[in-house]
This record gives sequence, structure tokens and C-alpha cells, in this order.
Amino acid sequence: MNCTACTAALDAPAQLCTGCVRGLDTRLAELPGQYLLLADRLRPGAARGDGPVALVREAPLPVREDVLDMRAEGGLVTVLEEWREAMQDARGWGRPARTGPIERRVLAAARGLRINLDWIVAEFEAAGDLAREIRALAAQVRALLDPAPPTLAVGDCAADLGGGGICGAPLRVPAGTTDVHCHRCGTDYPPSSWLTLATGAWADAEGAAA
Ligand SMILES: [Zn+2]
Ligand SMILES: [Zn+2]
Repeated sequence: MNCTACTAALDAPAQLCTGCVRGLDTRLAELPGQYLLLADRLRPGAARGDGPVALVREAPLPVREDVLDMRAEGGLVTVLEEWREAMQDARGWGRPARTGPIERRVLAAARGLRINLDWIVAEFEAAGDLAREIRALAAQVRALLDPAPPTLAVGDCAADLGGGGICGAPLRVPAGTTDVHCHRCGTDYPPSSWLTLATGAWADAEGAAA
């Protein structure tokens, strides 16, 4: 008999090996807190106490879609709730409620799975899929929470290089900064110009480029 998640050989009949059980338990315990932490990653630099927070009030910076998707209906909460529902269904139990704020639903679903972990390990035929899917989910969340999040694309460089030529190099906001600098032509873009860049309405803007 083998672990249905990692295929390691098992000493006694079970769905999961001890390593996969421990990993699943830890991830289910950590995911609700990580869900809350994701709120700080919605806007680049928004966790800092200066600059970017004030900017958010003036002009909406683009939000990180990947973080938004993970926090929304269909993201982390749905993965956990669907697994809890599948587990309850396999036990002949009714459907758990999906009500209240998402952070509470995340907590309820993760807790519902954890308190049934013994049964999952012993009996749940989909335990291997559950363990693998939660492992992949946790890896995605960790990547989103990484202290050096991916840079944010704000648009293409609009600098006029003369003769009607526009630079056009892709511009990105480096993590944790508000400095946007074109590496091709050297133009600097202050934060007040990002929205214009992002919407491609540069031609109508006044004096935003240095
Ligand atoms: Zn295993
Ligand atoms: Zn440029």
C-alpha cells in the first residue's frame, strides 16, 4: 500500500503517509492567517507606512490581479470549501454553509477539514488529491506573500525619440518602490503619470514625462 499523495510505501493501511498528513495539517492551519496577510499584498508597496499609501488616495494604482483572484470567491476560499463539502459528502453528511465574510468561511472550511483529518487519512478516497491540491494552493499563496513580490507592469514607455518614433519599452514598478525608469531611453515616470501610462492615454496628458 502506498500514500495516495506522494506514492511513498506505507507500513499500515491508510490514504496518506505521515509526512503528507503533517504537511496537510500544517497547511490547513496556516492558510486562514495567510489569507488575511494577502490583504497587504493587493497594492505594491501598500504595506509601507509612507508614500504609496498616500498615492493610493489620490490616484488608484493598479491592484495585483493575482492577489485579488486568490482572495475572491473562486479563489482560496472555494478550494477549501469544495474539499470540505466533498469530505462531508463522502461521510454522508449535509452540505456545510457558505455564509459570512470570506475570511470566516476560510477559517471554517480549513477547520472543518482539520478536525476530520483522522478520518480523511484513514478512509477518504480522494485524500491524495486533497493533499496535493492543498499543497499547490499553499505554494501559490506563499509566492503571493513573498517579501519581494513580482514587479507590476504599468504600460509602455511613451517617450518621443524624435522623428515620430515612440520608445515603447515595457515599464514596470520594481517591488517596494515608486521609481519607474525606462531602461531603454532613460525617461523617468513619476507615480502621478502611471495611470495615464496604464490606460494608454498618454497623448492627452500634460507634461508628465520628464
Ligand atoms: Zn505521502
Ligand atoms: Zn523609453
